[in-house]
Amino acid sequence: MTIADTPMQETLRTLWGIQEIDRDLFRVQEELKRLPAEREARAKKLDERRAQIQAVKDEASGVEERVREIENQSMTQRQKIRKLEDESESSRDMAVVEACRYEVRELQREIKRSERLCVEMMVESEEKVEGLKEVEEQLSVEEGHFTELSDGIDREISDAEGRKADLETARAERLGGDINSEALDLYNRLLGAREGQAMALVDSQVCQACYMSIPANLNVHLARGAKVIQCPSCDRILIRI
Ligand SMILES: [Zn+2]
Repeated sequence: MTIADTPMQETLRTLWGIQEIDRDLFRVQEELKRLPAEREARAKKLDERRAQIQAVKDEASGVEERVREIENQSMTQRQKIRKLEDESESSRDMAVVEACRYEVRELQREIKRSERLCVEMMVESEEKVEGLKEVEEQLSVEEGHFTELSDGIDREISDAEGRKADLETARAERLGGDINSEALDLYNRLLGAREGQAMALVDSQVCQACYMSIPANLNVHLARGAKVIQCPSCDRILIRI
């Protein structure tokens, strides 16, 4: 079956002429989406690591604060001990003396408990801060890598943008102005829906994009070339050349 030379056939041939460009354009556009997303994902990981480091530092300052509070409390308790000792020395009442001594012992025990607690807290906190060194070194290495990666991405983006501009120029030149606008709209929609491949060649009554057979009646329409025929299976605009 020969193909009729119709205005629609002319439109289809023009669209087929830009299909190759559009496939490349689609890839470039995908690249232009992927590259900044890649950078963002890496930057997010670095931010998470920085936040982890900060959390440990904040916790350590919290411990220091708590230790200061406990030390102040102990200082007050020591002052109280001195007062109680004076009181017990100047008193002749044995009951008062005993009561003072008892309270002194209690306070001394409490001071010792606080001292132990402070030491434990400090040791634990210092270990955590010490562990940060490795993480911070790792972060600084990763920051270096990120700068390299980011520079690389900048270069790739600018390269992709250059290619995109060239492809768009070539597309506009090939497309010209005389084209069936409905067919062009459908073509453009399918470009997005079918990952840059809106058209499919028919060879031996088989769609060369999805490899499904084309029904006989559609083949007749295809040969007449009067209207746009889409593959019943993959929706792509069919063309016979
Ligand atoms: Zn198909």
